[in-house]
Amino acid sequence: MKASKDSVVEFHYVLSADGEQVENSRDAGQSLHVLLGRGQLIPGMEKALLEHEAGDAFAIELPPEEAYGLRQEGLTQRVPKKYFQHAARLKVGMPTVLQLKEGGQRVVVVQKVGMTTIDVDLNHPMAGKTLNFDIELLNVREASAEELSHGHAHGPQAEAG
Ligand code: ZN
Repeated sequence: MKASKDSVVEFHYVLSADGEQVENSRDAGQSLHVLLGRGQLIPGMEKALLEHEAGDAFAIELPPEEAYGLRQEGLTQRVPKKYFQHAARLKVGMPTVLQLKEGGQRVVVVQKVGMTTIDVDLNHPMAGKTLNFDIELLNVREASAEELSHGHAHGPQAEAG
């Protein structure tokens, strides 16, 4: 069957940017299971998957607008070190995860390390980049009622979330 909104797709991907490999789901040893139509993937990837069916292997190139967006200026923020999990290990240019006061977390890039604070760029590390994906679509199936009510796919193992 062809992937559509409310399908669960299982796929492997290799992500490259600026000619270098950034991520390979096979290295992680696990394919991704995603419920389409819920904004869980970047827009261009979701759109591309909708055209395909199980067994398809294809390459897509996504401009920033279809991926993590354009870089925005003025998104530097000075944050006390206590909000970082491993503040002592952080160096300029490193991506890290910032715990937000209002809950949740966000990937940021270190711009400057001070005595008690760290300046971070709130742009996503992949913002402004054209991304290349090699995708192998392994399986397409209809979402279960439970998955639809949760708003996400359940993987091969039973999952409580
Ligand atoms: Zn769930």
